Amino acid sequence: MCQKCGRPLAPGELAYQVRIELVSTFDGYIEEPDLDIDMELERLIEAVARQSPGEAAKDVAQTIDLVICRGCRNRLVAEYDVQAEKILH
Ligand SMILES: [Zn+2]
Repeated sequence: MCQKCGRPLAPGELAYQVRIELVSTFDGYIEEPDLDIDMELERLIEAVARQSPGEAAKDVAQTIDLVICRGCRNRLVAEYDVQAEKILH
């Protein structure tokens, strides 16, 4: 089954493995806290405590592996305006 559109894949049908790596970027900008530093620290600790470690890790970096059909592959390539030749091995 295509993991993007859910269409069943026939035996031997051409399918594509896609790996999406989402990694947070850092632009060097750190916001000046409006609150005094103790309150800001308390707020951050609370925010981190509410998030499970798994969720927090996903915020920083997450890899998604999918097997998709040819149609979804073509849409993906078109969406990101990538030359098809660059994707084919
Ligand atoms: Zn599909």
